[in-house]
Amino acid sequence: MSFSSVLGHAREIGILQGAIKSSRVAHAFIFAGPDGIGKKLVARAFATVLNCSSGGDDSCGACADCSMMASSIHPNLIEIFPVDKDGEKDPEGLIRINQIREVQNALRYRVDRGMKTVIVDGADRLVPAAAHAFLKTLEEPPPGSVIILVTSKPSDFMPTVLSRCQRISFRPLPEEAVKGFLVDVKGLDPNEAGALSRLSGGSLAKACAFIDDGSLQKRREVIHRLSLIGPSDVAEALKLAEDLSKTDGLDELLEFIKSWYRDRIVASEGAQHLVANNDMQRQLKDAGVGEFNRLCSAFWAVEEARKAIAPPRYANKQLTLEVLVLKVSGARFM
Ligand SMILES: [Zn+2]
Repeated sequence: MSFSSVLGHAREIGILQGAIKSSRVAHAFIFAGPDGIGKKLVARAFATVLNCSSGGDDSCGACADCSMMASSIHPNLIEIFPVDKDGEKDPEGLIRINQIREVQNALRYRVDRGMKTVIVDGADRLVPAAAHAFLKTLEEPPPGSVIILVTSKPSDFMPTVLSRCQRISFRPLPEEAVKGFLVDVKGLDPNEAGALSRLSGGSLAKACAFIDDGSLQKRREVIHRLSLIGPSDVAEALKLAEDLSKTDGLDELLEFIKSWYRDRIVASEGAQHLVANNDMQRQLKDAGVGEFNRLCSAFWAVEEARKAIAPPRYANKQLTLEVLVLKVSGARFM
């Protein structure tokens, strides 16, 4: 992985390359930014260039160090991530003190060339004791080493950790970059790719997950069913609520439904270029110009239901969805 093969993030990479060129690489970094936009890829590209034998500001991809980095077997690459109680990788798990001790042990051996690079993925999952144990290392890592904390929640860090690191803030990828990738690499139709790049908010990982778990298709089906419900279709409204309540990834689907009402609002206002669900232009046209206030209240009703179902409120899912679908579809008991 070289800097040049990373999608986007020219500004962030520029800062790192500037540090390499001027031989002023900080000893600890925080790479902060939304999930799934490539922070860890940049961290790995950085680790690779710091160890590449070509000695430039990007890795050559051809030397022994680059190929060991590419297969994650380079002795100077140390990666840790949150694990569950059985020690299996788990983004919702924790980084425990024993993992920090292992890193500290690994850093004890001096390197004869390159730089030992520690990548702590999901660093906001450090348990307090582990974060505390790590402070001294963050402050004064052994010579020839660099630590990169990767996180989407920098606000969860102790200030004492934050103050010891140089922060690089990653922005979401531009829509066009995500769209281009989805068309060129994933072979998506440009309209669908456009929709996906907007709906994923510039997160390539999220966009790819939407393709893999069939979310895009599910979104079309749910919006289609919702738009067919008329004032007297109470039974169908309740059936849709029941089906939704049994769906995996409900939160995501509710976000999609919200995006649909948002699209109808912006389309009604003549701002077609802001529509997210680009691949559903026909359905949007069929839905016609809606009444502004009714569309806004539907949008907020979906958001309210989404929040009600989520922790810490855990409202009854089916009941909440029934009320929601009846409300937004205008179906009524006659
Ligand atoms: Zn190389």
